[in-house]
Amino acid sequence: MTFSIKNIISYIHAKPFGSFDDFIIENISIDSRSLQNNTGTLFFALKGQNHDGHHYIEQLIHKGVRYFVVESLPENCIGKAQFLIVENTTIALQETAKYYRNLFDFPVIGITGSNGKTIVKEWLNYLLSPDYSIVRSPKSYNSQVGVPLSVFGTNENHNLGIFEAGISLKGEMLHLESIIKPSIGVFTHIGTAHEDGFTNPEEKIIEKTQLFINCEVVILQKNDSIEKHIQATCFTWSFTDEKATVFGTIGEQKNGITNLLVTYNSHTFLIEIPFQDSIALNNVMTCVTTLLYLKVDTAIIANRVRNLYPVEIRLQAKKGINNCVLIDDSYSSDYQSLKIALDFLEQQKLHPKKTIILSDIFQGGLPIEKLYEKVALAIQNNKIDRIIAIGETISKYLSELPNVISFSSTNDFLKQFNTQSFQNETILIKGARSFNFDEIVVLLEEKKHETVLEINLDAITNNLNFYKSKLLPNTKVMVMVKAFGYGNGGFEIAKLLEHNTVDYLGVAFADEGIELRKAGIMLPIMVLNPENSSFNAMIAYDLEPEIYSITGLQAFLRLAQQKNINSYPIHIKLDTGMHRLGFEETEIDTLILLLKNNNFVKVKSVFSHLAASDNTDFNDFTQKQFDRFKRCSEKLISELAIKPIRHILNTSGIFNYANEMQLEMVRLGIGLYGVGNSKTENENLQNVSTLKSVISQIRVVNEGESIGYSRKFMVNEEIKVATIPIGYADGIRRAWGNEKGYVMINNQKATILGNICMDMLMVNVSSINCLSGDEVIIFGQKPTVNEIATTTHTIAYEILTGISQRVKRVFYKN
Ligand SMILES: *Cc1c(COP(=O)(O)O)cnc(C)c1O
Repeated sequence: MTFSIKNIISYIHAKPFGSFDDFIIENISIDSRSLQNNTGTLFFALKGQNHDGHHYIEQLIHKGVRYFVVESLPENCIGKAQFLIVENTTIALQETAKYYRNLFDFPVIGITGSNGKTIVKEWLNYLLSPDYSIVRSPKSYNSQVGVPLSVFGTNENHNLGIFEAGISLKGEMLHLESIIKPSIGVFTHIGTAHEDGFTNPEEKIIEKTQLFINCEVVILQKNDSIEKHIQATCFTWSFTDEKATVFGTIGEQKNGITNLLVTYNSHTFLIEIPFQDSIALNNVMTCVTTLLYLKVDTAIIANRVRNLYPVEIRLQAKKGINNCVLIDDSYSSDYQSLKIALDFLEQQKLHPKKTIILSDIFQGGLPIEKLYEKVALAIQNNKIDRIIAIGETISKYLSELPNVISFSSTNDFLKQFNTQSFQNETILIKGARSFNFDEIVVLLEEKKHETVLEINLDAITNNLNFYKSKLLPNTKVMVMVKAFGYGNGGFEIAKLLEHNTVDYLGVAFADEGIELRKAGIMLPIMVLNPENSSFNAMIAYDLEPEIYSITGLQAFLRLAQQKNINSYPIHIKLDTGMHRLGFEETEIDTLILLLKNNNFVKVKSVFSHLAASDNTDFNDFTQKQFDRFKRCSEKLISELAIKPIRHILNTSGIFNYANEMQLEMVRLGIGLYGVGNSKTENENLQNVSTLKSVISQIRVVNEGESIGYSRKFMVNEEIKVATIPIGYADGIRRAWGNEKGYVMINNQKATILGNICMDMLMVNVSSINCLSGDEVIIFGQKPTVNEIATTTHTIAYEILTGISQRVKRVFYKN
């Protein structure tokens, strides 16, 4: 992508500030963290709920960026860079994309629908790539910001575009239409589920079909109630309605393969599809119908479809061997997705050392030398410590770079593979499908059993926003990441929070804080339970203690004096009714005496903790706690003449008492992790953690037999039983067994039979169509952690923090 900035100034209605002679834009960026920001970058300072790109301008100028699109002029940067001032930077980004899109004129496929957009896009790309030079949306870049960024991937050598469009509100699709300008529409599945932002399903359909207003044709599953809203010709498929343009008949299904007979234009042909589930079959039909419309020969279609593969939509960071972290992107290798993966690598790196394992790059559109020049530049900008290049072409073109080790093939690499050569580093594995990098992933992945706790980082951001929406804009937020982020993973979440600008982190013990510091977290950290023996380490790692007793304060003061430390930040905890830790009202005078005219420490905050913020039956008690807190803290403040941050609210406190008690800061815990203490609260939260496993074995058990230890479940008619490799040692409570609890398999409930074992449990799958190896949801959307907690007579906190550390954590972003 290159175009001159002069062309867009008036197009986006910008007021220029600075000189803009002949700047050629080589890269559009909205992410300050990307190491690909450089002198050729035009940076759009977007404003989000938690995020303001304007804050990073100075830092970006240091990195060499000189051109910015902003909503307001950053005073301290005037003269150091050139600015385009616009009313709304997101709209300016969209307008710039529109301008850029208009430079090109070739067929573009626009995909929308409730599900399946990304899979259909990836499959169409795979199926059509032998015939076209394709530009497509990377990953699931389909939003108001993702679509413009996708379009910037276009260059003069492409001759087909495939872009997806996703919306959540009325009125959004027309924006996306004008950026994508599709000539061929593809409508994937339309869900019946209610989607926020739409009052009824019809409204949702009408909005989505706005993508097709300028299309010559729309490809979709035959459906009159959708077709009536589409002006263009409908090119339809169906498994049931023979009036559809393309008709499919499902034949034999076994060993993961489905035989499908496709009839089109009174000609019938057979396709072997490497999937059995109905969702995949629908998506395949959508793709086949698109190929038929594009006049691809039926024999070629059958041939290519046979090689379709499951699409990994998201980039994931996984635990690797020898304390490595893996980013597995082993199914694609084009320049656009390489850049995204490099950004993800930079955001996720737990270790300063970065390695990339990269195959030949397949990308139409660019001469090969130019392509590898760009690849080399991207890699150098990202300061990769070690590059393992696999493939004849990449080995040749990257051989000049320092730190390159090259291999002619994946096999070659595997023969020389040595586990010891990967230690304490973050490794990006990125290769074209034909290179079978999944074999490398298998070797590098830490071998634990198949159970994982998946953590949705986007849901965490959403939940943070929900609680922030209850607060005044200037109220600070401390997020509690104690107990390994409530079981979800401390470092990864802290890293995300750092980016989402929270003000403080809270941990229970000094060790937890030290781990965060070692992983590079710079936010201020308060330690709730500092033991006197850890004070030394706390000072070394810049951790701020909660001080809750006279003896604790004296010990800390002694140490500060010895070390000759000035104004070390401490947090004073008052006991107002919880009766756990804290100074009582009667101790305030002594406390004042110790702190008065004392330069060794500085009271950064004064706080207390509510005992019953989740239960409004205790309103009066809570109010009493608050009044006592006000009284004591005011005394401290006036007698010491200090201005500390005051805070008392935890999650349910924010939900129930934000108006009257938010003070200068709140302490958010469980709610961030998607679990609220009431029904209305939960309706506003998104599920964060999903505990998943797989079926190890399935068997039929006859009447008269029993299941598991102590013969707790007696079989009184023949049943089908599945064994799942997760048990109480992983944190699944035994009280959830014996038909009290269930797991979800293929969207159906499977009741837990008999006693839960240490490492396994058995479920009833008599009426569920399933195979060994199928995914099992232990908790997540359903059952929720709250449901398990209620049934097993405990609270969600105990369930979440009880998930054993032997369960692998996987973090993802959409
Ligand atoms: C754990 C904790 C919190 C957070 O509580 P949640 O109910 O999870 O929001 C807040 N303050 C203190 C002192 C805590 O120990």
